Amino acid sequence: MRPARALIDLDALRHNYRLARELSGARALAVVKADAYGHGAVRCAQALEAEADGFAVACIEEALALREAGIRAPILLLEGFFEADELALIDQHDLWCVAHTQWQIEAIEQAQLSKPLTVWLKLDSGMHRVGLHPAEYQAAYRRLLASGKVGKIVLMSHFARADEPECERTSEQLAVFQQAREGLSAEVSLRNSPAVLGWPQVPSDWVRPGIMLYGATPFEQAQEQAARLQPVMTLESKVISVRELPAGEPVGYGARFVAERPTRVGVVAMGYADGYPRHAPSGTPVVVDGQLTRLIGRVSMDMLTVDLTDLPQAGLGSHVELWGKQVLASDVAMAAGSIPYQIFCNLRRVPLLYLGG
Ligand SMILES: *Cc1c(COP(=O)(O)O)cnc(C)c1O
Repeated sequence: MRPARALIDLDALRHNYRLARELSGARALAVVKADAYGHGAVRCAQALEAEADGFAVACIEEALALREAGIRAPILLLEGFFEADELALIDQHDLWCVAHTQWQIEAIEQAQLSKPLTVWLKLDSGMHRVGLHPAEYQAAYRRLLASGKVGKIVLMSHFARADEPECERTSEQLAVFQQAREGLSAEVSLRNSPAVLGWPQVPSDWVRPGIMLYGATPFEQAQEQAARLQPVMTLESKVISVRELPAGEPVGYGARFVAERPTRVGVVAMGYADGYPRHAPSGTPVVVDGQLTRLIGRVSMDMLTVDLTDLPQAGLGSHVELWGKQVLASDVAMAAGSIPYQIFCNLRRVPLLYLGG
């Protein structure tokens, strides 16, 4: 059997969820969209369900997959519905729903529902992606209340630059939000992972941690609270072939690496078809038998090559950690010009193995 696989540490996931709650003093929706950022949404939701206040996903398809797996906790649809007829399923399956645009509010007014809907009313406070304009926010709130269709409204917005600790924009967005919601006494939800970790002054009844649950930092620089996260995924494989190259010989496609010295090359069963980033350059950190070394040569579809010259004990069958607790996914992402969000979401083909029930 091919030795490439991803271990998912569910105790670490629960630790990170508790940290989000502790840092915010708020209720937390665990964001498990995009198959829990590649970690497996059903298993992650099951591992958190006993303690989670709820979950958040991108669309109804993701929500229904959780309901079918028996998840009973609240589930929020972060973009609401894409077509009005989804409201029947939202009603039937007790889902919570973001409303970020006028036509969604009109559709809620006209919907036939069996019970009052929970709506998270989203304001565009300056990210300018989705959300209602500040000038139309209060009117939208009043319309929803008056519709008779809505039981509870949570006031919500999203930060564009909370991962930049020195950036003014987060405070500016907060000020826009506070002004738009003046006089409305409802619960609020603003914070994603970087805001949970780095913006304690932002008020919260609900937080929406995603990447931090999986133990990866959203910041480019070291950050005090992010250092408390525990990596959840270990992407691992084995050395399947070893060769000795004299100085001057190339390795792999395009001869992108040429041995500067006599070099022992280990070939690892892991490639870009597994989601390892193809653009990771020579020098990207990798751990072999617990020791740090470097990627060399181009990543190919099913294999990649590592430098074993300074690891004389390592050889055929050696254990390789591509990312995990020793090499952080965020470090590999940074080396490859990506972000941990994307390298997790790109994971495919490798079996996921769950530890910690
Ligand atoms: C994805 C998402 C989150 C989670 O973001 P992280 O940076 O992963 O914590 C929170 N809120 C909304 C609206 C999202 O779409």
